[in-house]
Amino acid sequence: MSDTPPPAPTQSRAGAKKELPEHFRAYKHVWVFVELERGAVHPVSWELLGAGRKLADKLGVELAGVVLGAPGDATRAALAEAFCYGADLAYLIEDPILADYRNEPYAKALTQLVNAHKPEILLLGATTLGRDLAGSVATSLLTGLTADCTELAVDADGSLAATRPTFGGSLLCTIYTLNYRPQMATVRPRVMLTPSRDEKREGRIVPFAVDLDEDKIITKIIKFIPDRESSKTNLAFADVVVAGGLGLQSAENFQLIRNLAAALGAEFGGSRPLTQKGWIGADRQIGQTGKTIRPKLYIAAGISGAVQHRVGVEGADCIVAINTDKNAPIFDFAHIGIVTDAIRLLPALTEAFCKRLSPHHRDRLAG
Ligand SMILES: Cc1cc2nc3c(=O)[nH]c(=O)nc-3n(C[C@H](O)[C@H](O)[C@H](O)COP(=O)(O)OP(=O)(O)OC[C@H]3O[C@@H](n4cnc5c(N)ncnc54)[C@H](O)[C@@H]3O)c2cc1C
Repeated sequence: MSDTPPPAPTQSRAGAKKELPEHFRAYKHVWVFVELERGAVHPVSWELLGAGRKLADKLGVELAGVVLGAPGDATRAALAEAFCYGADLAYLIEDPILADYRNEPYAKALTQLVNAHKPEILLLGATTLGRDLAGSVATSLLTGLTADCTELAVDADGSLAATRPTFGGSLLCTIYTLNYRPQMATVRPRVMLTPSRDEKREGRIVPFAVDLDEDKIITKIIKFIPDRESSKTNLAFADVVVAGGLGLQSAENFQLIRNLAAALGAEFGGSRPLTQKGWIGADRQIGQTGKTIRPKLYIAAGISGAVQHRVGVEGADCIVAINTDKNAPIFDFAHIGIVTDAIRLLPALTEAFCKRLSPHHRDRLAG
């Protein structure tokens, strides 16, 4: 027995060019699942087309969007948008059974499509729907799936290098699906940049017929009841976000964050301990196990800047940190640092912004 351990899956293999197995040659092109739900496409789909474009260009292959839905305008519109955001072609599975997302028919349809057209790489959004679907499809295909990636690249031998946080977010590891195809990965919304939209772009539509039978699907949708509370939170796509951490010291003091957010017309959120203490809802948590945000302005008050928080906010254009401790890690990545007591500064900031902003914002604050 050799003393040399086998290479770890997380080992960087750059430079170690290796011939891929012959049967992998049947798998070509990069696919992005276009997440269409109740007539709207989740914007993570366009972010993934931007990331997929880079992978496809590096591999010298085509980029395809995959659209599943009921026959109709919304499905066709999603298809057209996929081309505007960079797809060269789009696979289309239209069936009334696919009107609303259900794991069974979606997983079956996507698995059949993959088996028929064999993509090299398949990307999905790490949304509630995307995670549910990706897990089922990877299991049906008996292939590897790297979840919640923060970086995607093509290695020297053409393998997908999917990087994601590990060990509670304190390390990043790069994972390869070496022995199976397709290589699957999910990426959370706002991790990748949205590519520019070119409305003149067009592409090929490849329709695909799937054998679906409603009588054989055990899940039925009786009624759709939207979760009003969660749909109110638009943290991931907000231009301005104000967030608080344990430094605020009490749930009552969190109102200072809400006030400043209202004055700025911003969304509010917080660090994980605030969710755990019940000061804010889980849909307002920012960070590795919460939302990834990419606002123009992020104001963080009483947040230390632990790595698990940092990974969710470092895409912000401008980070303003308020913290009493000048050595707090958040000052390592904030653009503007204010060393002071947030509990005293927040009301003064709110008042100053209120004076400058419109009566509408002031009314909201007063209300
Ligand atoms: C697997 C895993 C996943 C995680 N996921 C997330 C995640 O998604 N999001 C997340 O946020 N965390 C996450 N965490 C937790 C993370 O490691 C930190 O524990 C957390 O971010 C700390 O929250 P905090 O900054 O609010 O609190 P603390 O670390 O306690 O920091 C409080 C800060 O407030 C400052 N302060 C105190 N008083 C004041 C004052 N009056 N004015 C101004 N500043 C003041 C202090 O100097 C300190 O820097 C995760 C941890 C693990 C292990």
